[in-house]
Amino acid sequence: MTEQLPDSGRSAASDPLTAQKIWLYLKRSARLRCPVCGRSPLFLPARRTESIPDWFAMLPGCPRCGYRYEREPGYFLFALWLVNFGMVTFVGLGLLLALDRFFTLSTAQLMFFTLVPLWVLGIASVRHIKAFFLAVDHLIHPHEEE
Ligand SMILES: [Zn+2]
Repeated sequence: MTEQLPDSGRSAASDPLTAQKIWLYLKRSARLRCPVCGRSPLFLPARRTESIPDWFAMLPGCPRCGYRYEREPGYFLFALWLVNFGMVTFVGLGLLLALDRFFTLSTAQLMFFTLVPLWVLGIASVRHIKAFFLAVDHLIHPHEEE
C-alpha cells in the first residue's frame, strides 16, 4: 500500500506542511521506512545484520525512490548526541526520581535500576531516533536530488 497524501500523485515532500503530512511522516519513521515513499526499509532487517555496527547503520538510500538517507557525513550526529542523549537523560531523571520517591533503595540499587534500563533504552532506540530525525528533517527541509 502506497502512503500518499490524498489528491496527490506527487511526492509528499512538495505538499504544504499539514497535520496529516506530519502524522504520515511520523508513522513512516515509527515503521523504520523511507520518509518519501514509505515502503523501503531504512535499516537491514535484524536477521541480515552480521555485526553490531550493521544494526545501527542506516542503508545508503531508498532503492525504490532514490532518496538518499544520509545527506552528508555526520548527518545523524545531532540525532544521536542530542535527541537520543536528551531523551535518555530525561527518562533517566524521571526514573531515578520515581524510584527514589516510591521505593526504599540504597544508592547502589538506585544507580543499578536507573542505569541498566537507560543503557537498554539508549541502544534500543537508536534506529527509531535516526528514523525520526530523518523524517522530521525531510518534513521541514525536503531535499531534492541535485
Ligand atoms: Zn523511498
